[in-house]
Amino acid sequence: MSQPNVLLLGPPGAGKGTQSSNIVQTYGVEHVTTGDALRSNKGMDISDLDVEYDTPGGFMDAGELVPNAVVNEIVKTALREADGYVLDGYPRNLDQAEYLDGITGLDVVAFLDVPREELVERLTGRRICDECGANYHVEFSPPEEAGVCDECGGELVQRDDDTEETVRERLSVYDENTRPVIEHYDEQGELSRIDGEGSPDEVWERLHTAIEERT
Ligand code: ADP
Ligand code: ADP
Ligand code: ZN
Repeated sequence: MSQPNVLLLGPPGAGKGTQSSNIVQTYGVEHVTTGDALRSNKGMDISDLDVEYDTPGGFMDAGELVPNAVVNEIVKTALREADGYVLDGYPRNLDQAEYLDGITGLDVVAFLDVPREELVERLTGRRICDECGANYHVEFSPPEEAGVCDECGGELVQRDDDTEETVRERLSVYDENTRPVIEHYDEQGELSRIDGEGSPDEVWERLHTAIEERT
């Protein structure tokens, strides 16, 4: 078959970005992630939508969801251009899930299951390379030299929304809006539930097996 279309679901901090890199390396698919796309467009003028904030960044820094109209458009364009993809960070509510069902077909829907206490630790310790976007954790996957990217020597920074207060808000937005999305795919019998605890390599072994079973 052609390259697989993989949807990776899970709460903030579950390891979607980390595992997406493995999927990209193994299957040669495109990584489509609304979080990164929105971070590159934080200052975009969306005042014509007449919503709470005039830019995506306003919603993101508050830990709230960016309006569907903005996000759906990003995903539609990105998926049209991809020959196989791993989609991460979308859909985050039922309207987005229904929109996605209308524009593409999924081969694998995997849910990374991680307990709440661990999510807070993962998110508040996350560091991102300013230059290449590589992902680290101060304790769980530290760089060789503190604050410096192993890949490119760039500076490691904390995301604006990875502070404890915003993390708590994001987790409650997840409970309210995104949990129903998991149920949506579960009801269709499409969901592969992956234990997301343990080392990134252990999680990848489970996820890889699940993808192989479905493709
Ligand atoms: P998401 O994209 O789902 O928000 P990330 O992949 O960015 O999650 O991971 C969140 C943080 O947790 C990062 O700092 C990452 O290095 C770390 N991390 C990812 N997977 C694991 C794991 N299996 N065990 C411990 N820490 C992890
Ligand atoms: P995480 O890695 O913690 O899961 P993301 O990088 O996916 O976080 O998302 C960061 C922020 O970007 C979210 O808190 C939200 O404000 C916005 N965002 C990302 N994806 C979506 C989406 N599908 N719908 C609405 N907002 C989104
Ligand atoms: Zn880097």
